[in-house]
Amino acid sequence: MIPTSQKVPRKVVVVGAGPVGCLAALSFAKEGWEVELYEARPDLRESLSGNTQARRSVNLAISSRAIVAMASVDPALATRVLEDGVPLRARMIHDVRGGSESQAYDPHGQCINSIDRGLLNLKLLEEVLSSPGVRVFFLHKLLKSNFDTKLLTFAKDDEPNVDVYFDLCIGADGSYSAVRRDMMRFAKMNYEQEYITHEYVELRMPARTRTDGSPSYRLDPNHLHIWPRHSFMLIALPNKDYTFTCTLFAPAATLASLRTREETLAWFSTHFPDAVAHIGEQNLLDDFEANPKGSLICIKTHPYHYKDSVILLGDASHSMVPFYGQGLNCGLEDVRVLRNVLRNDKVDPLVERSGAYDATLELALRQYSTIRHDDLIAICDMAMDNYVEMRHSVTTPTYRILKAIDHF
Ligand code: FAD
Repeated sequence: MIPTSQKVPRKVVVVGAGPVGCLAALSFAKEGWEVELYEARPDLRESLSGNTQARRSVNLAISSRAIVAMASVDPALATRVLEDGVPLRARMIHDVRGGSESQAYDPHGQCINSIDRGLLNLKLLEEVLSSPGVRVFFLHKLLKSNFDTKLLTFAKDDEPNVDVYFDLCIGADGSYSAVRRDMMRFAKMNYEQEYITHEYVELRMPARTRTDGSPSYRLDPNHLHIWPRHSFMLIALPNKDYTFTCTLFAPAATLASLRTREETLAWFSTHFPDAVAHIGEQNLLDDFEANPKGSLICIKTHPYHYKDSVILLGDASHSMVPFYGQGLNCGLEDVRVLRNVLRNDKVDPLVERSGAYDATLELALRQYSTIRHDDLIAICDMAMDNYVEMRHSVTTPTYRILKAIDHF
C-alpha cells in the first residue's frame, strides 16, 4: 500500500463559476481535492463593481434547502453569503383595487431570503478566491471535451486555446451547458427541453425618499409581494438598498402586443395601478423598453454522469421554470448530495496516480445519478404544474390562482 504522503490530490475541474460551480469548488477544496474553476465571463468582481442601480438583477428566494447545502460545506457560509439578503416572513397578495392581504409562511417564524443573484454569486466567488487549493480562470470558455481521455479545451480571447486534463469534470455551466452538449456524445443520455409560452421582464422599484432625505422602502420589505392576474403576474422582492426588484411573468404574445409607451402604460395602469404608482411611470417604461424579455425553459436529463469522468450539477442538469423558486436551491442541494455520496462511498481525495480510471468514483457518480433523479424530476414537474395551473386559472375563481402560486 502506498503511504498517504506519496499520494497526490485528485484534480477536479469545475466548468462555470455561477453559484453552483462556486459551491462545488469550495466543497471539493474542503475535501482535499486540487480544484480548478473555469468561467467564460470576466471576473464578476469587476462587472459588479460600480453603480448597482445601473445594472439589471434577478432576485432569488433562498430557502432552507440552499442554507443546509451551504452549511454542509462550511457551517457559517450561509450567514456570510446571505448578509446582504432580506428575510421574507410572509407573502402579500395585491388585488387590482389596491387591496392587499398578508399570508405568513410559517407559524414558527421560518422565512425565505431575498437576495440579488449577482450579489449571491459574488459572495460565493469571493469565498472561492480566498480558499487555498482553488485556482480560478476567467474568460475561459469551454470549447470541446473528451470524457474518455479526460481532456477539456478552453478558448481564451485572442490567445491560443488551452488544454486541461482532469480526474473529474463538473459541468456547472448553466441551462445551455457545453459540458452537457459534449457529454451526449459519450453517455447514453436522455435529454428533454421545453420552452413555455411565458416570458419575464425585470422592473426596478426605487427607494422612497423621506422628508429628511433618508431612503425607505415603498412596500413592506419582509414580504414577497404578488399581484396575481389570471394568466400573468407581477412579483416584487426587496433589496438591502431599499429598492425592490419586480418581475413581470406574462405570455410572450402579451408582451409583444405592448408596442408603444402609451400601450404599455395603459396595460400596466389597468392591471397594476398601485405598482405603477410605486415604480413610477417613467422608470417603468424605461425598464420595460430597455430590459430583455427572458425566456423560461425546463430541461431534464438522465443520467447526470459518465463513467468516473464527469457529472452535471445545477441548471446544467435540471433547469426548471421559476414558479416554485427552487432552481438554485436545488442546484446547491446537488452539491450537498454529491458530497455525501462521495464521503459515504469513501472516495479518497488522494490517489496514487492522477488520471487513472477509478471504479470507486464511477460507482459513487452512478449512485448520485440514481438517488437524485426522482427528486429532480419531481421538482421540475411541480414547478411546471404550477405554471400550467396559473395559465388555466384564467377561467377559475381567484382562490385557485392564489393556490397556483402557493410557493411564493
Ligand atoms: P448559472 O447561474 O447559469 O451559472 C452558469 C455559469 O457557467 C455562468 O457563470 C456562465 O457564464 C458559465 N458558463 C456557461 N457556459 C460556459 C462555458 N462554455 N465555459 C465556461 N463557463 C461557462 N432559483 C431559486 O432557487 N429561487 C428563486 O427564487 C429563483 N428565481 C428565479 C427567477 C427567474 C426569473 C429565473 C430565470 C430563475 C430563477 N431561479 C431561482 C433559478 C436560478 O436563477 C438558477 O437555478 C441558478 O442561477 C442556476 O445556477 P447555476 O450555477 O447552475 O447556473
